[in-house]
Amino acid sequence: MPSSHVHDPLALAVVSSHSTSEGVVSYLRCDCGAWEVRTAHMVAVTRPRGDVRRG
Ligand SMILES: [Zn+2]
Repeated sequence: MPSSHVHDPLALAVVSSHSTSEGVVSYLRCDCGAWEVRTAHMVAVTRPRGDVRRG
């Protein structure tokens, strides 16, 4: 898998989403196996290897 892989927002599948006290939290999964967690305040991407990048 190329390290420059960019997760295609259109290819991400929403696995689940629910409302919390801080807003809606959505869990999405990419074909590459990475998970993306979106909240009202941040987006966190979890790679299959386990490292998390916030941005
Ligand atoms: Zn990906």
